[in-house]
Amino acid sequence: MNPSNPSAPPAAGPSNFVRDIILEDLKTNKYQGRVHTRFPPEPNGYLHIGHAKSICLNFGLAAEFGGKTNLRFDDTNPEKEETEYVDSIMDNVRWLGFDWEDRLFYASDYFPQLYEWAVDLIRKGKAYVCDLTADQVRQYRGNLTEPGKPSPYRDRTIHENLELFERMKNGEFPDGSRTLRAKIDMASPNLNMRDPVVYRILHADHHRTGGTWCIYPMYDFAHGESDSIEKITHSICTLEFEDHRPLYDWYVEQLGIYHPQQIEFDRLNLTYTLLSKRKLLQLVQNGHVRGWDDPRMPTLSGIRRRGYTPEAIRNFCKAIGVSKTNGSIELGLLEHHVREDLNRRSPRVMAVLRPLRLVIDNYPEGQVEEMEAVNNPEDASAGTRRVPFSRVLYIEQDDFREVPPKQYFRLTPGREVRLRYGYFVTCTSAVKNPAGEVVEIHCTYDPATRGGNAPDGRKVKSTIHWVSAAHAIDAEVRLYDNLFTREDPGQTEEGQDFIANLNPNSLEVVAGAKLEPSLASAAAGDRYQFERLGYFAVDSDSSAARLVFNRTVGLKDAWAKIEKRGK
Ligand code: ATP
Ligand code: MG
Repeated sequence: MNPSNPSAPPAAGPSNFVRDIILEDLKTNKYQGRVHTRFPPEPNGYLHIGHAKSICLNFGLAAEFGGKTNLRFDDTNPEKEETEYVDSIMDNVRWLGFDWEDRLFYASDYFPQLYEWAVDLIRKGKAYVCDLTADQVRQYRGNLTEPGKPSPYRDRTIHENLELFERMKNGEFPDGSRTLRAKIDMASPNLNMRDPVVYRILHADHHRTGGTWCIYPMYDFAHGESDSIEKITHSICTLEFEDHRPLYDWYVEQLGIYHPQQIEFDRLNLTYTLLSKRKLLQLVQNGHVRGWDDPRMPTLSGIRRRGYTPEAIRNFCKAIGVSKTNGSIELGLLEHHVREDLNRRSPRVMAVLRPLRLVIDNYPEGQVEEMEAVNNPEDASAGTRRVPFSRVLYIEQDDFREVPPKQYFRLTPGREVRLRYGYFVTCTSAVKNPAGEVVEIHCTYDPATRGGNAPDGRKVKSTIHWVSAAHAIDAEVRLYDNLFTREDPGQTEEGQDFIANLNPNSLEVVAGAKLEPSLASAAAGDRYQFERLGYFAVDSDSSAARLVFNRTVGLKDAWAKIEKRGK
């Protein structure tokens, strides 16, 4: 729906096979015109960019068709779940720009109903209490080539099963000693149908229900039934659940309850990135990163802190679409969308990461001029600002070479360049320290070139950025590279795990950067383009006393080049 004009037709979302199914269901009135989706995270970690794909799909489709989307925590596993994760998930979904309104649910709220349904399955002769250990259950299950063997407890009477299940609930048996299993088909070609476990005993405190329960439903039981309770029309999930669909269908059919339609799509995989909460947790717990929101992490908290925008992530998700086959998306495509969005919205400023002093010998000592600088060439409404110019400046060390390599057009003794928004300057000499390193360079300027243009029309081959030394503010700047060195970090050499693929140079801290004074008021979350260097965002560690910036992404867009070449 268009919120500013409810009667306007909704903007059409990107076409894909899930959308086609919904369109068809609307045509045949399968759900009386309803479109009701849900996003069902398990609160056992922070959300990552893969979840963003699912969020955009679920909320996006419902919004397009005037439907609803629930946020449901699939919190059936008490051992791995925490309220910290619940809070971060809600925060991240909102940040991405989506709203579940009053439809926040927890699978754990359905525990009483799920228990009743389990009892119902027993009464119908469709579930039994089994005393095999987990290992034995696995052995009896067989494999893809061999059928399973029935459990010796499979033919317990309904009466005995009811009694034992109740005693399981009452906490009379230790963890792992018994399970409730569905009685389906031990010879089914689908292993999920070989009498799957429905309930297990676990004397563990749950983040919401505390010690109320000592039996917990398995995900495969809880998930489909939760969708049914919430009257979800299109239960959209990733492809690995395709083989579980017959089981979900079996449960709702046996129970005779509302039947949602499950549709599977491809998981997002990104090059140089791991998208598994279990592995991300390992990085956090073992101190390989500074936390779930480390800007190198593919978590929404991480990339948000790094400076990615919700719009860029939504555009990326739109661009990649959904399909029925798993593949891998280039990290460069995500970065391309980040750049495109930041290019539109980021104010330009001048910052010098590795400062080299530049002294203009013929510029009057003590003089300061306020030079006019454009805030955003992509957005005229962003206006201009004044940047102080004086006799001693900082430039990048990289912008001076005593002996220039071929094709090097920046400063070198005898050459004239443009200082952006300043003057033309010509290098006259370089001062070295005893170690032979250049520590200061001297120039002369041409007062007739104020603003950066020569009245006689002479040209220079390069324009460099600068910051006035007396006015500069100090900052720490954190530069990031890919967290992993391999395109597919899940692939490992024999005897190693994915930790071996970590990039030892994924973080470089530049302590002594110099920024133009307009950045004194920059606050956490603000985003800028540092001219010629890239996009940078103020880190949450930042304070007025100590400014800290993250490099969000560099300026060079390899993806745009590839696209152009393809055309
Ligand atoms: P992980 O393996 O990272 O733990 P998960 O699938 O176990 O992921 P859930 O919390 O169960 O994580 O996921 C919530 C929803 O997000 C599910 O519907 C799931 O299919 C979807 N999802 C998770 N990872 C991806 C991904 N990489 N691409 C697309 N959707 C995903
Ligand atoms: Mg999961």
